Amino acid sequence: MTEPVATTLPWATRGQELFEQAVSALSDADFAAPSRLPGWTNAHIVAHVAANADALGNLASWALTGVETPMYSSTDQRNADIERLSQEAPTALRSLTVERGAVLLGRLRELPDADWRAPVRTAQGREVPASEVPWMRCREVFVHAVDLAPGREFATLPADFLTALIADIAAQRSAKAPDGASRVTLSVDDGAVVTAPVAEDQTAAEVSGDVAAVAAYLAGRGTSGLRVDGGGAVLDLGPWL
Ligand code: ZN
Repeated sequence: MTEPVATTLPWATRGQELFEQAVSALSDADFAAPSRLPGWTNAHIVAHVAANADALGNLASWALTGVETPMYSSTDQRNADIERLSQEAPTALRSLTVERGAVLLGRLRELPDADWRAPVRTAQGREVPASEVPWMRCREVFVHAVDLAPGREFATLPADFLTALIADIAAQRSAKAPDGASRVTLSVDDGAVVTAPVAEDQTAAEVSGDVAAVAAYLAGRGTSGLRVDGGGAVLDLGPWL
């Protein structure tokens, strides 16, 4: 990920605003209703985004102090926290969204310039400079604002963010794929072209669409607006995040 903090920190701020707006639009009853993510209610998404703010705050303090503070102590603890928080009342979940998001953004804005280069580790075990943390946050708040039901659509997210998201997901999917995996070529209407590996037993293909359609497809959030060049079905890329 190469977008500078000067770009990604404002995206994290904007994403937080959009996520808060999407949460405000939920009625009390909506919190217990299914989100657009399989197996998760809206309350699970809100709980996850609040817990993610704390987890990324751990990385900010790691960068600031040099004392290793991982995002989560374990995957089990991460999942248990989401489950527990998701049981909170809607009023509490609305407050958590605002408060935890604000605390994280405050910590990021106060991080001294030199500390952005400090190495920290993602929940997936990747060592990255702390300068990736605002990118990790904006990805969460923008994409999960789309996962709430009712929520936003990818087309309402900033186009420059979607362009960066396409490059990021294509690179991460490629890094995880076995050598020689079949690939799908994705042409964005703005002229960008990326490739991504497809799930096993599928042959290479070409698809195209606008920046929102390609980003949603790469993120595993549907195929609306996507065109398959040469016809046929859209290939399954498997889950992301
Ligand atoms: Zn997430």
